[in-house]
Amino acid sequence: MSTATASRPQPHRDELTPDQCLCDYCTGKCCRYFSLPIDTPKTWDDYDAIRWYLAHDQVSIYVDEDTWYLAVLTRCKYLTPEYRCAIYEDRPKVCREYLTDNCEYDSDWKVAKLFESPEQLWEYAEAVLPPRRKPSVRPAAPPGGLIPVSALTASLPRSSP
Ligand code: SF4
Ligand code: SF4
Repeated sequence: MSTATASRPQPHRDELTPDQCLCDYCTGKCCRYFSLPIDTPKTWDDYDAIRWYLAHDQVSIYVDEDTWYLAVLTRCKYLTPEYRCAIYEDRPKVCREYLTDNCEYDSDWKVAKLFESPEQLWEYAEAVLPPRRKPSVRPAAPPGGLIPVSALTASLPRSSP
């Protein structure tokens, strides 16, 4: 816990009187990440795409009530050191519409599934998906495509009779 958090008493939300605002007792938890719903992965390719998300710093994937989300743990640049919004009057609509009623003020972030690394996700994919088909082994085509056999033989030196 940071010193700033420790020095800020955090009453239970039910203890607040109507003239008090929950945000005055919070360190801006909702301003330190954003998350977006993503399609539920069903195939190896789907999981591979999510694996790529997780290859980036500060990215997590979580599942809540059967919906998959991509979360980016990054502090909003408008959150001041005093945990205020520097553009409060002009904050984005998503912030305006976000209410304290069900916010994460006192949440312990429990979710059904949480993946914080590509390895965690891959392990899960291996448990829920059928085995991956190995890519078929074929010799690589030369740049520019396949060369007709006739062209190859035409360039070979003729053997002596
Ligand atoms: S809405 Fe909730 S989580 Fe966000 S700053 Fe206010 S109290 Fe904290
Ligand atoms: S714009 Fe303001 S309210 Fe919205 S996330 Fe940033 S600091 Fe929080």
